[in-house]
Amino acid sequence: MSLSVRQRRILADMGIPVWRSRVAAAPAIEAPPGEPLAPAAEMPSGAADAGGGGQDAAVATLDWEALQTRVRDCQACAELARERTQTVFGVGDPRARWLFIGEAPGAEEDRRGEPFVGRAGQLLDNMLRALGLERGHDVFIANVLKCRPPGNRDPKPEESAACRAYLDRQIALIQPEVIVALGRIAAQSLLASEEPLGRLRGAQHRYQGVPLVVTYHPAYLLRKPGDKGKAWQDLQRARAFLE
Ligand code: URA
Repeated sequence: MSLSVRQRRILADMGIPVWRSRVAAAPAIEAPPGEPLAPAAEMPSGAADAGGGGQDAAVATLDWEALQTRVRDCQACAELARERTQTVFGVGDPRARWLFIGEAPGAEEDRRGEPFVGRAGQLLDNMLRALGLERGHDVFIANVLKCRPPGNRDPKPEESAACRAYLDRQIALIQPEVIVALGRIAAQSLLASEEPLGRLRGAQHRYQGVPLVVTYHPAYLLRKPGDKGKAWQDLQRARAFLE
């Protein structure tokens, strides 16, 4: 894939090196040495497929509009329902090939009803642009939790479990070709794993049968910009599932 000047500038701003191919016909961006662009065709037999369990039967039959209404009115977690301004369903293209999943709405997201609208969201938008994507086109952005945990505490396991049928139904309706889990909490929750992020990154996973790539949370990358290059490698790996 060739990159526009704008995409190159965004990558440079993100501190991500752009490799120029020496072969005219080859892509302008290549994986760093030792990082194959194309994932293995087959998942290893031990690859995680954490999806499938705990689906709420009624939610699993809802269409997009009914699902939005159900989420909006959800009272499953008393504390979250009491404290939230509104639920945050997710944003984007309901037929997207790319699905990004974060942890839970923060204060700004709770206020505006849209995921990733703060500083971390701006970085996520830059990452999307570097991929030639933009919010709303071929991308859907959601969270493990649809409600903001008070004080931005971590989601409780029972809250993630209560919310899972909504996310699973979103995935079933969207039918994305790749899922990108943003950060440790989202990755561990989706993969039902307690492995640290460092071990989940780079491994092959599936969720609901869809290839899942784990990368850093944009908020972490704001604190540790030196890891943006590694995040870019993760996104390249995710893109390879589409090509
Ligand atoms: N962090 C998340 O994980 N999700 C959001 O929507 C915003 C910040």
